[in-house]
Amino acid sequence: MKEFDMNHLVDEIVKEITNSRNTYAATTTTTLTDNRVPIGVSARHCHLTKCDFIKLFGDTGSLTKKGDLLQPGQFAANEAVTIAGPKGSIERVRVLGPFRKHTQVEVSMTDSIKLGLKPPIRESGNIEFSSPVTIIGPKGSIYKEKGLIIAQAHVHMSVNDAKRLHVQDGDFVRVKTLNEQRPISFEKVKIRVSPNYVLEMHIDTDEANAAHIQSGDFGEIILGEKR
Ligand SMILES: [Zn+2]
Repeated sequence: MKEFDMNHLVDEIVKEITNSRNTYAATTTTTLTDNRVPIGVSARHCHLTKCDFIKLFGDTGSLTKKGDLLQPGQFAANEAVTIAGPKGSIERVRVLGPFRKHTQVEVSMTDSIKLGLKPPIRESGNIEFSSPVTIIGPKGSIYKEKGLIIAQAHVHMSVNDAKRLHVQDGDFVRVKTLNEQRPISFEKVKIRVSPNYVLEMHIDTDEANAAHIQSGDFGEIILGEKR
C-alpha cells in the first residue's frame, strides 16, 4: 500500500472510531435517565451483637473501622470471622459495623452450597426461620440456631428519592442492569426508604457475577411497573 493510501486509511479509521464513540456517548446519555441507581455488590459478611463479638474476639476492644460503606454510619471492620456448616467452612468473612440487635450472616447461594446449608432469601434484619451457622473468631466460637440468610436484592433510598421515583418503602420493582454485553433484569427488588439511606442497590456476588457487573455499575429502575 502506498504511503498516501495508508494515511488516508488511518484517517478513515480514526473518523470511524470517533463517530462510533459519539454514537455510543449519545446512546449512553439517552439511556442513563434519572431512574438510574448505582449498584453495590455485597460480598459475604457478618453482623454481630456486642455480646457475640465478645464471645468471638474477647472482652477487650471493639470493632475497628477498615472503611466506610456508602450507607451512612455503616462500615467494614478490620475484624473477620470464619463461618462453618456441615460440609465446609469459609474463612475471612468480613464483619460489618456497627453492632446490631441480632447476629446475622449474609452469604451467596454458592457460599451456602460450600457450607452445606440452605439459608432462605431474606431481607437483611429478618432472621426468623433462617439457617443455623457456626461462627468462629480468634477467641472463641458460637453456634447460632438461626442467622444465616441470602440477602434479597434491594434498593436503599432517601425519602426524596422515593418521591422522585414514585415508590414507597416495601414496594418491589424491576431493575434492568445497564450492561450492553449481558443485560439482565432483577425482577423482585425491594425498595427500602429511610432518611438515613442514600441511593444504592445491593445485590450479592452470585447476582453480580450472573449480570457481569461490579460495584459502581448502574441499573435502571423500570418505573410504573411495581412487581
Ligand atoms: Zn443493603
